[in-house]
Amino acid sequence: MAENPTVLITGASSGIGATYADRFARRGHDLVLVARDKERMEVLAARLRDETGVAIDILQADLTNPGELAVVETRLRDDRRIGVLVNNAGAALGGAFVTQAADDVGRLVALNTTAVVRLASAVAPRFAEAGEGAIVNISSVVGLAPEFGMSVYGATKAFVTFLSQGLSFELGPKGVYVQAVLPAATRTEIWERASIDVNALPLVMEVGELVDAALVGFDRREPVTIPPLHDAGQWDAYQTARQTMLPGIRQEHAAARYQA
Ligand code: NAP
Repeated sequence: MAENPTVLITGASSGIGATYADRFARRGHDLVLVARDKERMEVLAARLRDETGVAIDILQADLTNPGELAVVETRLRDDRRIGVLVNNAGAALGGAFVTQAADDVGRLVALNTTAVVRLASAVAPRFAEAGEGAIVNISSVVGLAPEFGMSVYGATKAFVTFLSQGLSFELGPKGVYVQAVLPAATRTEIWERASIDVNALPLVMEVGELVDAALVGFDRREPVTIPPLHDAGQWDAYQTARQTMLPGIRQEHAAARYQA
């Protein structure tokens, strides 16, 4: 990868995205910040320009709006200085599935999955051709846990983790690094936005600790980074169990228990 490529970060106006902006600026990377709240990004950009001297552009976009998403896609496709995409913008949705409005569910899926895959799709061909570049997708441990009772949010994050692992297999050999980051509960505004009281949750990680740990995984070129998981062997065992099943799921005939 070029020594200090520009980093485009979605959802950079607060929380995890704003913290990635801070950390990459301190590493000397120019930035492109994307979110809806332009004023907040201006304040962050002014501070980071002042403290680090990097160049920062701001792209105001609602990533659930196809036209505004397309502007970000074009920037990723055309701006050859951008060598890292941090696909971070995302939201959660409170309540049970039967109480969630279909339009809210649709918007959540558009933001957490469609925007993520379209932005990756915009940049991946250029990265693959250059033989360098990195795509960081912010997923969640909720995508591993239907038991947590956040079905739609978890499903979007299962999509992000699967997409990241698949792209890692496809793009890794071409020199492109793809990382899925799976935070657990982290102290940001996402909870308040979903009408969930973060102070009522046990075991909440501070956002700086989360992003610093995720960047350790980034520097090690880990395909999947789960900062809160203390026993890495558990993830390895989970992957091994899944891979052990793979030869068994490609069969010409139905299993004996389904033979009428
Ligand atoms: P956050 O503070 O609420 O940040 C979300 C960011 O996404 C904000 O910058 C927001 O900016 C942006 N965003 C929201 N809707 C958008 C839209 N329609 N178009 C463009 N940008 C939009 O929450 P966070 O915790 O940092 O979330 C970042 C990522 O971490 C998400 O993908 C989330 O699912 C994931 N995550 C968080 C936790 C946690 O516990 N905090 C745990 C696991 C995973 P604007 O409002 O200015 O648009």
